Amino acid sequence: MAIISGINKRFILLSSLLAASALAALLLTQCSKHGQAAIFVQEPLPYAQDALAPVISAKTMSFHYGKHYAGYVKKANALTQGPAYEGKTAVDVIRETAGDAAKAAVFNNAAQAWNHAFYFKCMKPQGGGVPQGRLAKMIDAAFGSFSNFKDVFVSAAKDQFGSGWVWLVLDGNKLAVIATSNADTPLAHGLTPLFTVDVWEHAYYLDYQNRRADYVRQVLDKLANWQFVSEQLTKAEPASPSKSKQS
Ligand code: FE
Repeated sequence: MAIISGINKRFILLSSLLAASALAALLLTQCSKHGQAAIFVQEPLPYAQDALAPVISAKTMSFHYGKHYAGYVKKANALTQGPAYEGKTAVDVIRETAGDAAKAAVFNNAAQAWNHAFYFKCMKPQGGGVPQGRLAKMIDAAFGSFSNFKDVFVSAAKDQFGSGWVWLVLDGNKLAVIATSNADTPLAHGLTPLFTVDVWEHAYYLDYQNRRADYVRQVLDKLANWQFVSEQLTKAEPASPSKSKQS
C-alpha cells in the first residue's frame, strides 16, 4: 500500500478541487440554467489564428473569432433559454425567428453565430486557386467564367451598404451571388449557402481600412476553400426554384 505524506495528501485534495471546479465551469457554459444543452457552440477555428496572414492578420482573427463570434454565440445561447427553444437546432431558431420583429435580437445573434462558423470554414491557408468538377461547371453556367464570378462577387461586396455578408448560394438548381445586410442569412430565404465573405468592418478594417474590395478579392484569390464549397453543393438538398420566391 502506498504511503501518502501529508504534503501529498494536501496536493491531491487541491488538485481534486481544481478539477471539480473546472468541470463545473465547463458544464455551466454548455448547459443553460434550465439544464438544457446549449443550442449554439463556438466551433473550433480550423487553422491557427495567424495561418491566414498576411491576407487576414492574427490580430484581426483574434478579435473576430475570439470576441465578435464568441459574443454572438454567448448572446444567442442566453436568448434561447427556456422551453420555447428546447430541442431546436441553430438553423431551426434562425428560420423560426426570421422576419419576426419581436424576436429580432434572437435572430440577429443566432444568424451571426451561424454565419461566422460558416465563414471561417470557407477559408483555409494557401487556399484560392480554381474550383473543380460540378462546382466549376455551375459557376461557368451562371456567370460565364470563374473570372466573371469573382468580379460579380467583389462588386456585390462593394455595393453592400453598411455591414453585411456576400454569398454564393444555390437557388433551386443554379448558382447566384447575393448580399445580405447585418445578420441576415440565405437560410432565412430558402437559399442554400455555399460560400461567404464577411463584409462587416470588424472583418477587415485593421488590415485594409476602407479597402473592402481589396480584402474580398484577396480572400477569393488566396484563401477561398473551394473543396469546402464543393462539399456544400454535394450535400445540398434538391430544391425547386420557386421555394426561394415563397420565403
Ligand atoms: Fe464578423
